[in-house]
Amino acid sequence: MPNSIVTHRDVIRYAAGRAAIAGGLTAVATLIFLVTDLGTDLQAVVPVGTVVRSSLIVALSVSITLSGAMSFRSAMLMRQLALTRAELMRVSRTDPLTGLLNRRGFDEAAALLLANASAAGQRVVALMCDIDRFKEINDRHGHDAGDRVLARIGEILRDFGARNDMLIARHGGEEFAGLMLDVSDEEATRHALALCRLCSTDVTGGGASVSVTLSFGLATHLPGGDLAGLMRRADRALYRAKDLGRNCVVQIDEMEAVAVC
Ligand code: GH3
Ligand code: MG
Ligand code: MG
Repeated sequence: MPNSIVTHRDVIRYAAGRAAIAGGLTAVATLIFLVTDLGTDLQAVVPVGTVVRSSLIVALSVSITLSGAMSFRSAMLMRQLALTRAELMRVSRTDPLTGLLNRRGFDEAAALLLANASAAGQRVVALMCDIDRFKEINDRHGHDAGDRVLARIGEILRDFGARNDMLIARHGGEEFAGLMLDVSDEEATRHALALCRLCSTDVTGGGASVSVTLSFGLATHLPGGDLAGLMRRADRALYRAKDLGRNCVVQIDEMEAVAVC
């Protein structure tokens, strides 16, 4: 589709141009065929059947050729539009720094996962984690080093999530979220502890080595609860982990929060 079509007036001008081209082509093709078939003597006597046959041949050839070409072009444009739309949907749900789902992508995927899990009677455990003292990392090593840390932590979380069938996203800033499907509280805690250890790492690059740790909060989905409530409870557990000194995991259930490292 031409990029210059922006306004309603552009649409009308484009459509009128195409119609004029189609009309011109039809007139030229008709003239050439009739002159070739019936001759150039305007006074000649020609049987009606010959004129009807010639007209039908011209009309059919022109309309099949033009409508075929235009339909093919329209279909190609629709295909291009569908691909562009799908790419836009993907980009609008992806965090460019880490390649993980962003908050919007997470909310959509998580709501679907939660609804399917509830229908299937499966347990869901939510995880929220946050890089410890990330402001200090930025202040001490610079914003680029901070971005490198975010990218590396995103990579660790993505790999772990892929191996353990977890939905992982960058929830915003230096905070990441995850959902674990069909796991017991013990398994969820084991996963979070493993992640806590993996994320306790040094990120090197740009001549600097940055020591990183993360704090984790876990919450189990309660029957009748919604995604927002679940993530709020996981966030509360995360804040408890920060209060307890960071670089640890806190699990929260209906009754109370339990620190597990
Ligand atoms: P806490 O351990 O309590 O979480 O402390 P914190 O310093 O990690 O948390 P705080 O909320 O004080 O600071 C978070 C910082 O993260 C502030 C913000 O500038 C930085 N930040 C958020 N998004 C980005 C980003 O995309 N890149 C970089 N480099 N920094 C970011
Ligand atoms: Mg932080
Ligand atoms: Mg934070």
